[in-house]
Amino acid sequence: MIKLDSIEKSYDLGQVTVSAVSGISLTIERGDFLAVTGPSGSGKSTLLNILGILDNPSAGTYYLEDYDITLLSDKDQARIRNKHFGFIFQSFNLFSELSALENVMLPMSYAGVSFKERRERARELLADLGLEDRMFHLPSMMSGGEQQRTAIARALANQPDLILADEPTGNLPTDKGEEILRTLETL
Ligand code: ADP
Ligand code: MG
Repeated sequence: MIKLDSIEKSYDLGQVTVSAVSGISLTIERGDFLAVTGPSGSGKSTLLNILGILDNPSAGTYYLEDYDITLLSDKDQARIRNKHFGFIFQSFNLFSELSALENVMLPMSYAGVSFKERRERARELLADLGLEDRMFHLPSMMSGGEQQRTAIARALANQPDLILADEPTGNLPTDKGEEILRTLETL
């Protein structure tokens, strides 16, 4: 599905150039479950942002299903990002003024799904993740684990080919973090 070849990312800070990732080549097949590990500052987030087309590499090629996505316009990149990827973040990034249900419905409205179908699909996803009793809760009324499961439901809303999760268990106690990892592995 994805092939990265000799990916580089460096930041030009005027006096110095910081190399964030260097010489990364990897292949991701459909159904793979892949973990990127390394100390703080080693370039994990940079690599994930490149994989999720949130950022472009300074050099190297990125093939998604045989298309070199680095050659696409910002608009086409955004379209591909919305269609193919779901994102999960360490800090959950839910909209605080929206209920769990509305948070999960939101990405589907960008994809042009009807209100009825959005609500139906969001209910199903939340129920699958054990949150049937939390649909109308605001994020502040949920535990960290529940917020992250809501974020997983949201990431799944547009049926992505790939889920990218940057330290998804970083803000959770160990047992809840393990629960989240098991959920992701099952998915
Ligand atoms: P990790 O996620 O593994 O902690 P990052 O990908 O966040 O690592 O960072 C890798 C390196 O790139 C670090 O040295 C960091 O300081 C640097 N870096 C990341 N983003 C920027 C940026 N926008 N500008 C300058 N340097 C950056
Ligand atoms: Mg990081």
